[in-house]
Amino acid sequence: MDFNLTVEQKQAQKLAREFAKKEVAPIIKEADRNQEMPDFILPRLGELGLLGVCIPVKYGGQGMDYITLGVVCEELDYVDISLRTALSVHLALNSMGLLQWGTEEQKQCFLAPQARGQKYGMFALTEPGAGSDVANMRSTARREGDEYVINGEKTWISLATQAHHALWFAKTNPEAGSRGITAFIIKTDHPGVTTAEIHGKLGSRAGSTGWVNCQNVRVPLVHRIGEEGEGFKIAMSCLDNGRYTVGSGCVGTVRALLDTCVKYTRERSAFGAEIGKLQLIQQKIAHMTRNYEIGRLMYLKVGWMKNHGLRNTRETSQLKWFASEAALNSANEAIQIHGAYGYSDEYNVERHMRNARATTIYEGTSEVHQLMQAEYALGYRKDRKLRRELPPYKQKEWQDTQE
Ligand SMILES: Cc1cc2nc3c(=O)[nH]c(=O)nc-3n(C[C@H](O)[C@H](O)[C@H](O)COP(=O)(O)OP(=O)(O)OC[C@H]3O[C@@H](n4cnc5c(N)ncnc54)[C@H](O)[C@@H]3O)c2cc1C
Repeated sequence: MDFNLTVEQKQAQKLAREFAKKEVAPIIKEADRNQEMPDFILPRLGELGLLGVCIPVKYGGQGMDYITLGVVCEELDYVDISLRTALSVHLALNSMGLLQWGTEEQKQCFLAPQARGQKYGMFALTEPGAGSDVANMRSTARREGDEYVINGEKTWISLATQAHHALWFAKTNPEAGSRGITAFIIKTDHPGVTTAEIHGKLGSRAGSTGWVNCQNVRVPLVHRIGEEGEGFKIAMSCLDNGRYTVGSGCVGTVRALLDTCVKYTRERSAFGAEIGKLQLIQQKIAHMTRNYEIGRLMYLKVGWMKNHGLRNTRETSQLKWFASEAALNSANEAIQIHGAYGYSDEYNVERHMRNARATTIYEGTSEVHQLMQAEYALGYRKDRKLRRELPPYKQKEWQDTQE
């Protein structure tokens, strides 16, 4: 594997970095305080092509590879988690799921407008009584002729009040456990769909998180994604992509904390010298450099595996577990380095800490990832081939312009 970024990857990195630093960084503290997602974020991510960065051009995207997605996520999280979370749900969890599992008609109908940034997508899996235990969901989808009637409530859904399309999971066979789950695309303007924001979150405050309720929502058969009973597999394969963006994003959080701490420790003095000279402070800085280097290598490897069409559930889970814990630990140490100043929002380290707290919970809690890693190592868990894998990256094919 070549660790150098290509010219195109560097261009995407610069684009994401400049957007985050020039347009978002100046207003992020205020957005975080107001607990509101600024209106311009999603349209600007769309205009810049980032909402479809790794979707083939023929489906409205930029035709870039999966490493580019990781590089972009690192730049977005460097400024604030809410930017990257929008990309995680819209692109990785929803659009890449459609790329993998959708029919040609569904890709043209839902994926293409999402990749162009004309419509936004969400991923509606979690319910009030079912988070890690997905199979315990209560949402139902009852077939009536050429339609399904959907009922249920989803909570903690990112972009719930912003998105036009929900990738929604419901039971078509409630007795069959995880094998009874089916995936659908639900348009949020369908009669019977209601959404609302959740307020009072610890972090991710400049992002949108809410609940979605479906009451007797009639969805045509052609909006079913995959076959009946394939929903659990579809959800887990989408999470392979979402977790990749969480992991690569967390590497950006670590880099932001490292940069802030290096600057502060060179400026702040105690006992007649800059605090960077104190060995116990140096130890914390050293931990951050290690977290950054390991996390970055891990996401480059997973991106490379995705580019080559290799199954990466195990490696992605390891990346997400490591990088989210690394971001949280680095943020905790960064506050300590800043002393009392770290405890206020004068510096951004406390915001990164509140934000990083979510990353060890969503897209599989750290406990769930530890169980997965142990099960793989012990031979209790093996990945079976899916009916449809995420397509490997093929530069020419992906970048060919639409007729
Ligand atoms: C900011 C934010 C955004 C989110 N966005 C989305 C979204 O867009 N779409 C979506 O579908 N969901 C979203 N979620 C929900 C998230 O995915 C769930 O919170 C997560 O899956 C955990 O579920 P839970 O909160 O119900 O916790 P639970 O599953 O109830 O877990 C509670 C505790 O029990 C532990 N636990 C559970 N099972 C086991 C086990 N077998 N062994 C050991 N410990 C266990 C957990 O690790 C945890 O510590 C979001 C959450 C947050 C905080």
